[in-house]
Amino acid sequence: MTTAVRKSAPAQGRRSSVMNFEELIQALIWSPLLHELARAIPEKGPEGRPRKYPEAIVLMFGALARHHRSAAAAEAELFNDSAWQIVRHEWDRFQRATVANPADRVSLPSEGICWHHWKHARDTYLVNDTIIEELLKQFTATSIEMALELGYFDLEEGSLSHPSSTRSIYGDGTEVRSAYRCLARQVEVVDEDTGEVSIRLAAVEPSRPDVARAWIETDQVTGEIYALDAKSGKRLARLPLDREALMSNKYGEYQANQNIVTFHTRNDDASHSRMTLAIGMDESENTEADTAMRLLEQLAASPIGPAIQCVVYDKALRGVHLDRILTEFGYIPVVKVAAAPSTKAEKDARRAAGQEDKLKPKNLPLGSREHTLADGSVCKHLIYATNGQLVEMDWDERGALVQVSRLPVRRQVKKQARERGGRNWGWSVEYEVACPKSAFSFWFTPHSAYGEKETRIAENVRIFPEVHETVDPEFRRLAGRRNDSENSHSQYKETLRHKRSHTLGRNGMLLDALLFFAMENSKNWLRQIGWSKSVELQAS
Ligand SMILES: [Zn+2]
Repeated sequence: MTTAVRKSAPAQGRRSSVMNFEELIQALIWSPLLHELARAIPEKGPEGRPRKYPEAIVLMFGALARHHRSAAAAEAELFNDSAWQIVRHEWDRFQRATVANPADRVSLPSEGICWHHWKHARDTYLVNDTIIEELLKQFTATSIEMALELGYFDLEEGSLSHPSSTRSIYGDGTEVRSAYRCLARQVEVVDEDTGEVSIRLAAVEPSRPDVARAWIETDQVTGEIYALDAKSGKRLARLPLDREALMSNKYGEYQANQNIVTFHTRNDDASHSRMTLAIGMDESENTEADTAMRLLEQLAASPIGPAIQCVVYDKALRGVHLDRILTEFGYIPVVKVAAAPSTKAEKDARRAAGQEDKLKPKNLPLGSREHTLADGSVCKHLIYATNGQLVEMDWDERGALVQVSRLPVRRQVKKQARERGGRNWGWSVEYEVACPKSAFSFWFTPHSAYGEKETRIAENVRIFPEVHETVDPEFRRLAGRRNDSENSHSQYKETLRHKRSHTLGRNGMLLDALLFFAMENSKNWLRQIGWSKSVELQAS
Protein backbone atom coordinates (compact mmCIF):
# COMPACT_ATOMS: atom_id res chain seq x y z
CA MET A 1 0.00 0.00 0.00
CA THR A 2 1.32 3.41 -0.82
CA THR A 3 0.60 6.56 1.02
CA ALA A 4 0.47 9.92 -0.60
CA VAL A 5 3.46 12.03 0.33
CA ARG A 6 2.74 15.61 1.22
CA LYS A 7 4.88 17.99 -0.84
CA SER A 8 5.43 20.38 2.01
CA ALA A 9 4.59 20.57 5.66
CA PRO A 10 1.23 22.21 6.20
CA ALA A 11 1.40 25.75 7.46
CA GLN A 12 1.05 26.06 11.20
CA GLY A 13 -2.49 26.66 12.31
CA ARG A 14 -3.86 25.08 9.13
CA ARG A 15 -3.07 21.49 10.03
CA SER A 16 -5.72 18.99 11.00
CA SER A 17 -7.34 19.93 14.28
CA VAL A 18 -7.31 16.36 15.57
CA MET A 19 -4.28 15.42 17.62
CA ASN A 20 -2.91 11.92 17.28
CA PHE A 21 -2.30 9.83 20.39
CA GLU A 22 1.35 10.85 20.70
CA GLU A 23 0.53 14.55 20.44
CA LEU A 24 -2.25 14.15 22.99
CA ILE A 25 0.14 12.47 25.46
CA GLN A 26 2.69 15.24 24.85
CA ALA A 27 0.04 17.87 25.57
CA LEU A 28 -1.07 16.13 28.76
CA ILE A 29 2.46 15.57 30.06
CA TRP A 30 4.08 18.85 28.96
CA SER A 31 1.31 21.15 30.05
CA PRO A 32 1.54 22.15 33.71
CA LEU A 33 -2.11 21.30 34.43
CA LEU A 34 -2.03 17.62 35.38
CA HIS A 35 1.14 18.12 37.44
CA GLU A 36 -0.35 21.03 39.36
CA LEU A 37 -3.63 19.17 39.90
CA ALA A 38 -1.60 16.20 41.18
CA ARG A 39 0.12 18.49 43.67
CA ALA A 40 -3.29 19.47 45.08
CA ILE A 41 -3.92 15.85 46.10
CA PRO A 42 -2.66 15.15 49.64
CA GLU A 43 0.17 12.61 49.98
CA LYS A 44 -0.86 9.15 50.97
CA GLY A 45 -0.45 8.16 54.63
CA PRO A 46 1.91 5.36 55.71
CA GLU A 47 -0.77 2.65 55.84
CA GLY A 48 -1.65 0.46 52.87
CA ARG A 49 0.22 -0.17 49.67
CA PRO A 50 2.08 2.78 48.14
CA ARG A 51 0.48 4.20 45.01
CA LYS A 52 1.86 2.48 41.93
CA TYR A 53 1.53 5.41 39.51
CA PRO A 54 2.22 9.12 40.06
CA GLU A 55 -1.00 11.10 40.59
CA ALA A 56 -0.46 12.99 37.32
CA ILE A 57 -0.58 9.65 35.46
CA VAL A 58 -3.73 8.61 37.32
CA LEU A 59 -5.34 11.92 36.31
CA MET A 60 -4.04 11.40 32.76
CA PHE A 61 -5.98 8.13 32.68
CA GLY A 62 -9.14 9.99 33.73
CA ALA A 63 -8.58 12.50 30.92
CA LEU A 64 -7.96 9.70 28.39
CA ALA A 65 -11.21 8.06 29.53
CA ARG A 66 -12.93 11.20 28.26
CA HIS A 67 -10.87 11.27 25.07
CA HIS A 68 -11.79 7.63 24.34
CA ARG A 69 -15.34 8.13 25.68
CA SER A 70 -14.99 5.38 28.30
CA ALA A 71 -12.47 4.09 30.83
CA ALA A 72 -12.63 0.66 29.16
CA ALA A 73 -11.56 2.17 25.83
CA ALA A 74 -8.74 4.13 27.48
CA GLU A 75 -7.52 0.92 29.10
CA ALA A 76 -7.67 -0.92 25.77
CA GLU A 77 -5.55 1.84 24.17
CA LEU A 78 -2.94 1.77 26.95
CA PHE A 79 -2.91 -2.03 26.97
CA ASN A 80 -1.28 -1.71 23.57
CA ASP A 81 2.39 -1.83 24.52
CA SER A 82 3.50 0.85 22.03
CA ALA A 83 0.95 3.30 23.44
CA TRP A 84 2.23 2.80 26.96
CA GLN A 85 5.82 3.19 25.66
CA ILE A 86 4.84 6.60 24.27
CA VAL A 87 3.59 7.60 27.73
CA ARG A 88 6.77 6.32 29.43
CA HIS A 89 9.00 7.99 26.86
CA GLU A 90 7.31 11.41 27.24
CA TRP A 91 7.26 11.03 31.00
CA ASP A 92 11.03 10.30 31.07
CA ARG A 93 11.74 13.26 28.81
CA PHE A 94 9.63 15.45 31.06
CA GLN A 95 11.41 14.19 34.19
CA ARG A 96 14.84 14.81 32.63
CA ALA A 97 13.85 18.34 31.65
CA THR A 98 12.24 19.30 34.94
CA VAL A 99 13.98 17.35 37.71
CA ALA A 100 17.64 18.35 38.03
CA ASN A 101 18.79 15.58 40.35
CA PRO A 102 18.59 12.16 38.59
CA ALA A 103 18.01 10.48 41.96
CA ASP A 104 14.75 12.45 42.35
CA ARG A 105 13.33 11.40 38.97
CA VAL A 106 10.41 9.01 39.01
CA SER A 107 10.06 6.47 36.23
CA LEU A 108 6.85 4.70 35.31
CA PRO A 109 6.30 0.92 35.82
CA SER A 110 6.65 -1.20 32.69
CA GLU A 111 2.98 -2.25 32.88
CA GLY A 112 0.45 0.29 31.68
CA ILE A 113 -2.04 1.89 34.03
CA CYS A 114 -5.42 0.12 34.03
CA TRP A 115 -9.02 1.06 34.58
CA HIS A 116 -9.01 -0.37 38.10
CA HIS A 117 -6.14 1.91 39.18
CA TRP A 118 -8.16 4.89 38.02
CA LYS A 119 -11.38 3.61 39.54
CA HIS A 120 -9.69 2.93 42.87
CA ALA A 121 -8.14 6.41 43.05
CA ARG A 122 -11.36 8.08 41.96
CA ASP A 123 -13.65 6.23 44.34
CA THR A 124 -11.39 6.19 47.39
CA TYR A 125 -10.00 9.71 47.50
CA LEU A 126 -10.46 11.86 44.40
CA VAL A 127 -14.22 12.27 44.91
CA ASN A 128 -13.72 13.46 48.47
CA ASP A 129 -15.41 16.88 48.96
CA THR A 130 -12.22 18.61 50.13
CA ILE A 131 -10.04 17.16 47.37
CA ILE A 132 -12.54 18.06 44.62
CA GLU A 133 -12.66 21.59 46.02
CA GLU A 134 -8.83 21.78 45.94
CA LEU A 135 -8.68 20.34 42.41
CA LEU A 136 -11.16 22.94 41.14
CA LYS A 137 -9.21 25.78 42.77
CA GLN A 138 -5.95 24.47 41.34
CA PHE A 139 -7.53 24.06 37.91
CA THR A 140 -8.45 27.74 37.94
CA ALA A 141 -5.09 28.92 39.29
CA THR A 142 -3.06 26.94 36.72
CA SER A 143 -5.38 27.66 33.78
CA ILE A 144 -5.07 31.37 34.55
CA GLU A 145 -1.27 31.10 34.54
CA MET A 146 -1.43 29.30 31.21
CA ALA A 147 -3.76 31.97 29.78
CA LEU A 148 -1.30 34.64 30.92
CA GLU A 149 1.56 32.73 29.26
CA LEU A 150 -0.47 32.86 26.03
CA GLY A 151 -0.62 36.66 26.35
CA TYR A 152 -4.30 36.78 27.31
CA PHE A 153 -5.55 39.46 29.75
CA ASP A 154 -2.95 41.97 28.58
CA LEU A 155 -3.81 45.31 30.25
CA GLU A 156 -2.62 47.17 27.14
CA GLU A 157 -5.25 45.56 24.92
CA GLY A 158 -8.73 46.90 24.25
CA SER A 159 -10.69 49.74 25.82
CA LEU A 160 -13.96 49.95 27.74
CA SER A 161 -15.71 51.15 24.56
CA HIS A 162 -14.15 48.37 22.48
CA PRO A 163 -13.08 45.52 24.79
CA SER A 164 -10.46 43.02 23.68
CA SER A 165 -11.59 39.44 23.05
CA THR A 166 -8.74 38.12 25.18
CA ARG A 167 -9.90 40.31 28.07
CA SER A 168 -13.50 39.15 28.04
CA ILE A 169 -14.72 35.97 29.62
CA TYR A 170 -17.79 34.01 28.61
CA GLY A 171 -19.74 31.33 30.37
CA ASP A 172 -22.73 29.08 30.32
CA GLY A 173 -24.41 26.31 32.26
CA THR A 174 -25.35 22.89 30.99
CA GLU A 175 -27.18 19.96 32.46
CA VAL A 176 -25.27 16.69 32.48
CA ARG A 177 -27.65 13.79 32.63
CA SER A 178 -26.85 10.65 34.51
CA ALA A 179 -27.10 7.20 32.99
CA TYR A 180 -28.50 6.04 36.31
CA ARG A 181 -32.18 6.45 36.16
CA CYS A 182 -33.44 6.06 39.68
CA LEU A 183 -34.20 9.05 41.84
CA ALA A 184 -34.93 9.30 45.51
CA ARG A 185 -38.38 10.55 46.35
CA GLN A 186 -40.54 10.93 49.44
CA VAL A 187 -43.68 8.82 48.97
CA GLU A 188 -46.83 8.76 51.07
CA VAL A 189 -47.69 5.26 52.22
CA VAL A 190 -51.13 4.41 53.60
CA ASP A 191 -51.35 1.45 55.95
CA GLU A 192 -54.28 -0.62 54.61
CA ASP A 193 -55.24 -1.88 58.07
CA THR A 194 -55.01 1.24 60.22
CA GLY A 195 -55.34 3.91 57.52
CA GLU A 196 -52.29 5.59 58.99
CA VAL A 197 -50.22 7.68 56.55
CA SER A 198 -46.45 7.61 56.73
CA ILE A 199 -43.70 9.10 54.56
CA ARG A 200 -41.07 6.73 53.17
CA LEU A 201 -38.10 7.40 50.96
CA ALA A 202 -38.36 5.46 47.70
CA ALA A 203 -36.14 4.86 44.69
CA VAL A 204 -38.30 5.70 41.68
CA GLU A 205 -37.89 5.96 37.93
CA PRO A 206 -38.35 9.47 36.53
CA SER A 207 -41.03 8.22 34.12
CA ARG A 208 -43.03 6.60 36.94
CA PRO A 209 -42.37 8.77 39.99
CA ASP A 210 -45.29 7.29 41.91
CA VAL A 211 -44.13 3.68 41.76
CA ALA A 212 -41.53 2.74 44.36
CA ARG A 213 -38.94 0.36 42.97
CA ALA A 214 -37.25 0.02 46.32
CA TRP A 215 -37.50 1.54 49.76
CA ILE A 216 -34.47 3.42 51.03
CA GLU A 217 -33.80 2.94 54.73
CA THR A 218 -31.14 4.14 57.11
CA ASP A 219 -29.83 1.86 59.85
CA GLN A 220 -30.46 3.75 63.09
CA VAL A 221 -27.32 2.37 64.71
CA THR A 222 -24.68 2.38 61.98
CA GLY A 223 -26.18 5.16 59.82
CA GLU A 224 -25.73 2.89 56.80
CA ILE A 225 -28.10 3.44 53.89
CA TYR A 226 -29.62 0.33 52.32
CA ALA A 227 -32.44 -0.59 49.96
CA LEU A 228 -35.38 -2.96 50.35
CA ASP A 229 -37.13 -4.42 47.34
CA ALA A 230 -40.56 -2.74 47.28
CA LYS A 231 -42.38 -6.00 46.42
CA SER A 232 -40.59 -8.66 48.42
CA GLY A 233 -39.22 -6.44 51.19
CA LYS A 234 -35.88 -8.25 50.84
CA ARG A 235 -32.70 -6.31 51.32
CA LEU A 236 -30.95 -5.49 48.03
CA ALA A 237 -27.22 -5.96 47.57
CA ARG A 238 -26.82 -2.58 45.87
CA LEU A 239 -28.55 0.76 46.06
CA PRO A 240 -30.56 1.32 42.86
CA LEU A 241 -29.67 5.01 42.92
CA ASP A 242 -26.85 7.43 43.41
CA ARG A 243 -25.68 7.08 47.01
CA GLU A 244 -23.57 10.21 47.08
CA ALA A 245 -26.26 12.49 45.71
CA LEU A 246 -28.70 10.95 48.15
CA MET A 247 -26.41 11.60 51.10
CA SER A 248 -25.41 15.10 50.04
CA ASN A 249 -29.12 15.93 49.90
CA LYS A 250 -28.18 18.84 47.70
CA TYR A 251 -30.11 18.16 44.59
CA GLY A 252 -33.54 17.30 45.90
CA GLU A 253 -35.37 14.46 44.31
CA TYR A 254 -33.96 15.02 40.85
CA GLN A 255 -30.36 14.61 41.90
CA ALA A 256 -29.49 12.30 39.02
CA ASN A 257 -28.80 15.25 36.69
CA GLN A 258 -26.30 17.95 37.52
CA ASN A 259 -25.87 21.45 36.13
CA ILE A 260 -22.28 22.40 35.31
CA VAL A 261 -21.21 26.03 34.80
CA THR A 262 -17.97 26.99 33.07
CA PHE A 263 -16.16 30.23 32.20
CA HIS A 264 -13.70 30.53 29.33
CA THR A 265 -11.72 32.98 27.28
CA ARG A 266 -10.15 32.72 23.85
CA ASN A 267 -8.38 34.68 21.18
CA ASP A 268 -10.92 35.37 18.42
CA ASP A 269 -8.12 35.58 15.84
CA ALA A 270 -6.78 32.06 16.44
CA SER A 271 -8.40 28.64 16.25
CA HIS A 272 -8.01 26.22 19.17
CA SER A 273 -7.35 29.05 21.55
CA ARG A 274 -10.10 28.50 24.14
CA MET A 275 -8.94 28.29 27.73
CA THR A 276 -11.45 27.19 30.34
CA LEU A 277 -10.86 29.20 33.50
CA ALA A 278 -13.37 27.97 36.05
CA ILE A 279 -15.76 25.06 36.54
CA GLY A 280 -18.57 24.78 39.08
CA MET A 281 -21.68 22.78 39.77
CA ASP A 282 -25.04 24.00 41.05
CA GLU A 283 -25.64 23.35 44.74
CA SER A 284 -29.32 22.68 44.15
CA GLU A 285 -31.92 22.93 41.42
CA ASN A 286 -32.25 26.18 39.48
CA THR A 287 -29.27 27.90 41.08
CA GLU A 288 -27.17 28.41 37.95
CA ALA A 289 -26.92 32.17 38.51
CA ASP A 290 -25.53 31.58 42.02
CA THR A 291 -22.94 29.16 40.64
CA ALA A 292 -21.94 31.64 37.92
CA MET A 293 -21.61 34.44 40.48
CA ARG A 294 -19.51 32.22 42.75
CA LEU A 295 -17.12 31.49 39.87
CA LEU A 296 -17.01 35.19 38.93
CA GLU A 297 -16.10 36.06 42.51
CA GLN A 298 -13.23 33.59 42.28
CA LEU A 299 -12.02 34.99 38.94
CA ALA A 300 -12.35 38.59 40.15
CA ALA A 301 -10.07 37.77 43.10
CA SER A 302 -7.50 36.02 40.86
CA PRO A 303 -4.48 37.59 39.09
CA ILE A 304 -6.64 38.23 35.98
CA GLY A 305 -9.34 40.00 38.04
CA PRO A 306 -8.16 43.54 37.22
CA ALA A 307 -7.72 42.71 33.51
CA ILE A 308 -11.19 41.31 32.76
CA GLN A 309 -13.30 43.85 30.81
CA CYS A 310 -16.55 42.07 30.15
CA VAL A 311 -18.55 39.01 31.05
CA VAL A 312 -20.64 37.32 28.37
CA TYR A 313 -23.47 35.16 29.67
CA ASP A 314 -27.09 34.28 28.91
CA LYS A 315 -30.30 35.50 30.46
CA ALA A 316 -29.77 33.32 33.54
CA LEU A 317 -28.11 36.45 34.96
CA ARG A 318 -30.67 39.09 35.89
CA GLY A 319 -30.62 42.69 37.13
CA VAL A 320 -29.48 41.82 40.63
CA HIS A 321 -26.48 39.89 39.25
CA LEU A 322 -25.67 42.40 36.52
CA ASP A 323 -25.71 45.26 39.02
CA ARG A 324 -23.18 43.35 41.12
CA ILE A 325 -20.99 42.56 38.09
CA LEU A 326 -20.84 46.29 37.28
CA THR A 327 -20.41 47.76 40.74
CA GLU A 328 -18.60 45.05 42.70
CA PHE A 329 -16.41 43.35 40.06
CA GLY A 330 -16.18 46.29 37.66
CA TYR A 331 -16.96 44.32 34.47
CA ILE A 332 -19.37 45.08 31.63
CA PRO A 333 -22.05 42.40 31.37
CA VAL A 334 -22.76 41.37 27.78
CA VAL A 335 -26.16 39.76 28.26
CA LYS A 336 -29.43 39.90 26.37
CA VAL A 337 -32.34 41.63 28.07
CA ALA A 338 -34.91 39.18 29.39
CA ALA A 339 -38.35 39.79 27.91
CA ALA A 340 -40.99 41.46 29.99
CA PRO A 341 -43.31 38.88 31.52
CA SER A 342 -46.42 38.43 29.41
CA THR A 343 -49.81 38.21 31.05
CA LYS A 344 -51.75 34.99 30.63
CA ALA A 345 -54.29 36.79 28.43
CA GLU A 346 -51.51 38.00 26.10
CA LYS A 347 -50.08 34.50 25.85
CA ASP A 348 -53.48 32.95 25.16
CA ALA A 349 -54.25 35.54 22.49
CA ARG A 350 -50.96 34.84 20.71
CA ARG A 351 -51.48 31.11 20.92
CA ALA A 352 -55.03 31.43 19.60
CA ALA A 353 -53.71 33.47 16.67
CA GLY A 354 -51.21 30.67 15.96
CA GLN A 355 -48.27 32.95 16.71
CA GLU A 356 -45.21 31.70 18.45
CA ASP A 357 -44.68 32.82 22.01
CA LYS A 358 -42.97 36.01 20.93
CA LEU A 359 -41.23 37.93 23.63
CA LYS A 360 -42.36 41.36 24.62
CA PRO A 361 -39.58 43.95 24.69
CA LYS A 362 -38.92 45.62 27.99
CA ASN A 363 -39.35 49.34 28.40
CA LEU A 364 -38.11 51.47 31.24
CA PRO A 365 -38.60 55.25 31.48
CA LEU A 366 -35.33 56.95 32.49
CA GLY A 367 -36.56 60.51 32.88
CA SER A 368 -35.74 63.44 30.62
CA ARG A 369 -32.46 65.07 29.61
CA GLU A 370 -32.37 68.74 28.70
CA HIS A 371 -30.01 71.11 26.97
CA THR A 372 -30.02 74.89 26.61
CA LEU A 373 -30.22 76.30 23.11
CA ALA A 374 -28.45 79.43 21.80
CA ASP A 375 -31.57 81.57 22.41
CA GLY A 376 -31.56 80.55 26.09
CA SER A 377 -34.59 78.24 25.79
CA VAL A 378 -34.48 74.72 27.22
CA CYS A 379 -35.07 71.68 24.99
CA LYS A 380 -36.22 68.45 26.72
CA HIS A 381 -35.76 64.85 25.55
CA LEU A 382 -37.61 61.93 27.06
CA ILE A 383 -35.27 58.93 27.47
CA TYR A 384 -36.37 55.30 27.75
CA ALA A 385 -34.56 51.98 27.67
CA THR A 386 -35.94 49.45 25.18
CA ASN A 387 -34.32 46.03 24.91
CA GLY A 388 -31.23 47.39 26.62
CA GLN A 389 -30.85 50.33 24.22
CA LEU A 390 -31.36 53.96 25.23
CA VAL A 391 -34.03 55.53 22.99
CA GLU A 392 -35.87 58.86 22.82
CA MET A 393 -39.63 59.01 23.07
CA ASP A 394 -41.88 61.85 21.99
CA TRP A 395 -45.59 62.63 21.65
CA ASP A 396 -46.95 62.38 18.13
CA GLU A 397 -49.72 64.57 16.70
CA ARG A 398 -52.40 62.22 18.06
CA GLY A 399 -50.95 62.46 21.56
CA ALA A 400 -49.41 58.99 21.64
CA LEU A 401 -45.94 58.34 23.01
CA VAL A 402 -43.76 56.97 20.19
CA GLN A 403 -40.11 56.19 19.76
CA VAL A 404 -38.06 58.80 17.90
CA SER A 405 -36.28 57.16 14.97
CA ARG A 406 -32.83 58.59 15.71
CA LEU A 407 -31.03 56.91 18.61
CA PRO A 408 -28.76 58.35 21.27
CA VAL A 409 -25.29 57.16 20.20
CA ARG A 410 -22.94 55.70 22.80
CA ARG A 411 -19.61 57.53 22.96
CA GLN A 412 -17.32 57.11 25.97
CA VAL A 413 -17.56 54.45 28.65
CA LYS A 414 -15.97 55.41 31.96
CA LYS A 415 -15.33 53.46 35.10
CA GLN A 416 -14.25 55.04 38.40
CA ALA A 417 -12.94 53.29 41.48
CA ARG A 418 -15.36 54.01 44.30
CA GLU A 419 -14.71 51.89 47.35
CA ARG A 420 -17.73 52.08 49.55
CA GLY A 421 -19.71 49.36 51.31
CA GLY A 422 -18.93 46.37 49.08
CA ARG A 423 -19.27 48.49 45.97
CA ASN A 424 -16.00 49.13 44.19
CA TRP A 425 -16.88 50.75 40.89
CA GLY A 426 -19.10 53.39 39.38
CA TRP A 427 -19.80 53.57 35.65
CA SER A 428 -20.88 56.38 33.37
CA VAL A 429 -21.65 56.22 29.68
CA GLU A 430 -21.80 59.24 27.42
CA TYR A 431 -24.57 59.43 24.83
CA GLU A 432 -24.84 61.90 22.00
CA VAL A 433 -28.27 63.03 20.81
CA ALA A 434 -28.56 64.51 17.32
CA CYS A 435 -31.26 67.00 18.31
CA PRO A 436 -32.28 68.92 15.15
CA LYS A 437 -32.03 72.15 17.11
CA SER A 438 -28.54 71.47 18.38
CA ALA A 439 -26.65 68.23 19.08
CA PHE A 440 -25.83 67.60 22.73
CA SER A 441 -24.56 64.80 24.92
CA PHE A 442 -25.34 63.51 28.40
CA TRP A 443 -23.88 61.05 30.88
CA PHE A 444 -25.80 58.06 32.12
CA THR A 445 -25.17 55.62 35.02
CA PRO A 446 -26.09 52.07 33.90
CA HIS A 447 -26.55 50.66 37.40
CA SER A 448 -28.17 51.37 40.77
CA ALA A 449 -27.20 54.40 42.82
CA TYR A 450 -25.17 53.86 45.97
CA GLY A 451 -27.23 52.45 48.81
CA GLU A 452 -30.12 51.58 46.52
CA LYS A 453 -31.43 48.05 46.26
CA GLU A 454 -33.17 48.93 43.01
CA THR A 455 -31.68 46.86 40.16
CA ARG A 456 -34.15 47.86 37.43
CA ILE A 457 -31.57 49.91 35.56
CA ALA A 458 -29.05 47.04 35.43
CA GLU A 459 -31.89 44.74 34.37
CA ASN A 460 -33.02 47.03 31.54
CA VAL A 461 -29.99 48.96 30.26
CA ARG A 462 -26.97 47.49 28.49
CA ILE A 463 -23.74 49.34 27.78
CA PHE A 464 -23.58 47.09 24.70
CA PRO A 465 -27.22 46.55 23.69
CA GLU A 466 -28.27 43.69 21.47
CA VAL A 467 -30.41 45.67 19.05
CA HIS A 468 -29.33 48.19 16.42
CA GLU A 469 -26.00 46.65 15.62
CA THR A 470 -25.37 49.21 12.90
CA VAL A 471 -25.28 51.79 15.68
CA ASP A 472 -23.43 49.57 18.13
CA PRO A 473 -21.63 46.46 16.82
CA GLU A 474 -20.03 45.49 20.14
CA PHE A 475 -22.80 43.20 21.33
CA ARG A 476 -22.68 40.99 18.29
CA ARG A 477 -18.89 40.80 18.32
CA LEU A 478 -18.67 39.86 22.00
CA ALA A 479 -21.86 37.87 22.52
CA GLY A 480 -21.09 35.61 19.59
CA ARG A 481 -18.55 33.94 21.81
CA ARG A 482 -21.26 32.54 24.04
CA ASN A 483 -21.89 29.95 21.33
CA ASP A 484 -18.37 28.77 21.99
CA SER A 485 -19.20 27.87 25.59
CA GLU A 486 -22.18 25.90 24.27
CA ASN A 487 -19.78 24.19 21.85
CA SER A 488 -17.41 23.30 24.66
CA HIS A 489 -20.28 21.76 26.59
CA SER A 490 -21.50 19.73 23.67
CA GLN A 491 -17.92 18.57 23.01
CA TYR A 492 -17.79 17.46 26.62
CA LYS A 493 -21.08 15.60 26.38
CA GLU A 494 -19.84 13.89 23.21
CA THR A 495 -17.25 12.19 25.43
CA LEU A 496 -20.02 10.57 27.49
CA ARG A 497 -21.58 7.42 26.05
CA HIS A 498 -25.11 8.26 24.85
CA LYS A 499 -24.32 11.77 26.19
CA ARG A 500 -25.03 10.55 29.69
CA SER A 501 -22.65 10.39 32.59
CA HIS A 502 -21.82 6.86 33.67
CA THR A 503 -20.02 8.09 36.76
CA LEU A 504 -21.89 7.84 40.02
CA GLY A 505 -22.28 10.91 42.14
CA ARG A 506 -21.97 14.64 41.97
CA ASN A 507 -18.24 14.78 42.72
CA GLY A 508 -17.45 12.01 40.24
CA MET A 509 -19.36 13.87 37.53
CA LEU A 510 -17.52 17.05 38.43
CA LEU A 511 -14.17 15.21 38.27
CA ASP A 512 -14.97 13.92 34.76
CA ALA A 513 -15.74 17.45 33.57
CA LEU A 514 -12.63 18.84 35.27
CA LEU A 515 -10.34 16.33 33.56
CA PHE A 516 -12.00 16.90 30.18
CA PHE A 517 -11.44 20.66 30.40
CA ALA A 518 -7.90 20.08 31.77
CA MET A 519 -7.19 17.99 28.66
CA GLU A 520 -8.69 20.62 26.31
CA ASN A 521 -6.70 23.41 28.00
CA SER A 522 -3.51 21.34 27.77
CA LYS A 523 -4.05 20.67 24.05
CA ASN A 524 -4.85 24.30 23.21
CA TRP A 525 -2.00 25.62 25.35
CA LEU A 526 0.53 23.40 23.59
CA ARG A 527 -0.93 24.27 20.17
CA GLN A 528 -0.69 28.00 20.93
CA ILE A 529 2.58 28.16 22.80
CA GLY A 530 4.50 25.64 20.71
CA TRP A 531 6.57 22.70 21.74
CA SER A 532 9.96 24.29 22.43
CA LYS A 533 8.50 27.14 24.47
CA SER A 534 6.63 24.62 26.64
CA VAL A 535 9.87 22.74 27.36
CA GLU A 536 11.57 26.01 28.23
CA LEU A 537 8.74 27.03 30.58
CA GLN A 538 8.57 23.67 32.30
CA ALA A 539 12.35 23.48 32.77
CA SER A 540 12.57 26.92 34.34
ZN1 LIG B 1 -33.00 69.11 21.89
